Amino acid sequence: DLGHIDPHAAAGAPAITPAGKAAYWMPFTANRQFKEAPRLVSGADGMFFRTPDGREVLDSIAGLWCVNAGHNRPRIVEAIQRQAAELDFAPPFNMGHPKAFELAERLVQLTPPGLDKVFFANSGSEAVESALKIALAYHRARGEGTRTRLIGRERGYHGVNFGGISVGGMVGNRKVFGAMVAGVDHLRHTHDPARNAYSVGQPAHGAELADDLERLVALHDASTIAAVIVEPVAGSTGVLVPPQGYLQRLREICDRHGILLIFDEVITGFGRLGAPFAATRFGVTPDLMTCAKGITNGCVPMGAVFARDAIYEAFMTGPEHLIEFPHGYTYSGHPLACAAALGTLDTYAEEDLLTRGSRLEPMFAQAVHSLRGLPHVIDIRNLGFVGGIELEPRPGEPGKRAFSVFLDCWEQGVLIRTTGDTIALSPPLIIEEAQLQRVIDTVAAAIRRVA
Ligand code: PMP
Repeated sequence: DLGHIDPHAAAGAPAITPAGKAAYWMPFTANRQFKEAPRLVSGADGMFFRTPDGREVLDSIAGLWCVNAGHNRPRIVEAIQRQAAELDFAPPFNMGHPKAFELAERLVQLTPPGLDKVFFANSGSEAVESALKIALAYHRARGEGTRTRLIGRERGYHGVNFGGISVGGMVGNRKVFGAMVAGVDHLRHTHDPARNAYSVGQPAHGAELADDLERLVALHDASTIAAVIVEPVAGSTGVLVPPQGYLQRLREICDRHGILLIFDEVITGFGRLGAPFAATRFGVTPDLMTCAKGITNGCVPMGAVFARDAIYEAFMTGPEHLIEFPHGYTYSGHPLACAAALGTLDTYAEEDLLTRGSRLEPMFAQAVHSLRGLPHVIDIRNLGFVGGIELEPRPGEPGKRAFSVFLDCWEQGVLIRTTGDTIALSPPLIIEEAQLQRVIDTVAAAIRRVA
């Protein structure tokens, strides 16, 4: 009975031991603080996590922007279990297995026309590194090897590997590591609360910020610039929705100067914005597009890069016995990840989840904007099934006020996420209106209590 989930199976699971606490160096976590009062989950089902002591916690952030179809979906569980029993691993270099090809075929049916090639990685960070390397190698393959400069954006998050933190714009993730990849510049971010506070959907002002790219072209010459990478909606730095016309303008400038446009869709892919990809939603097709997270509904690590046909073709011109692109991972297109992704795509299709966020966007927008007027709320932003509620920071303690709201919500049985002083909501796409209302009521009560 592979699909059956016992909702109480994890209740009473053992707590973590002192030796376990001592041994585990947790990522992106205040380890010492966390270990004093650990927050644990040991089971999940649909919209809920379950804690070892049997509490149910409503998941308003799809795990970490990834469990788009909700937790422990039977079709996906079953696909992984079957695959593990059938083919555990296949070497991905000069070898293959059918599901990787099947998945590639299925995925490119979801991408905008022209983005028809897919390269597999195992995470968002790896997808980003792969995309940056494809961009550099593409220009070389076409005899334009002087195009080496990469351009990111302030407040961009592109994972944690060296390329990603170099083009990324989060100072906290950069400053402790010294030298970055050379030859990187940044556009300004598009967050402009003075002109755009409380925008519903895309803000009206700021398309002209895309012209920063023209300034960099004027400064360095287009012949030195390989690619520009942006998140269509910046997620991890506080839900920054692009101003109307901004992405179109960026596309035009890239076209004018032969610069590749990369969309990092690790968060925005697979229905988060009410369309399969942000590129679909905004009607702007990049040259390269990364994804991860929702590709497997978060079940098995996987990332991918989509490339325009012409980019792929540029690699296919040398001697046939040569490897065209010396890059890839032991686990690229891993059988378990492919099985999980296929089960995920089936689930999205059967329940029409990839567009549900557009049908329910008015309801979602109204819900998050209903928090306007609460103490210390200074801005609210939304698009599709993602919302940001920005709080005024406590003087000298950035991020602390929002984190207190997070802790309060956890106590009340709702998992939210905060980034700096912004509360980011990105629920599984299956969320029901009453569940969303519970999230909003819990956040509202927490904001009041913390105030
Ligand atoms: N790019 C973006 C836009 C992301 O949001 C993230 C993760 N939140 C990453 C890259 C990195 O993904 P991963 O953590 O899977 O490496």
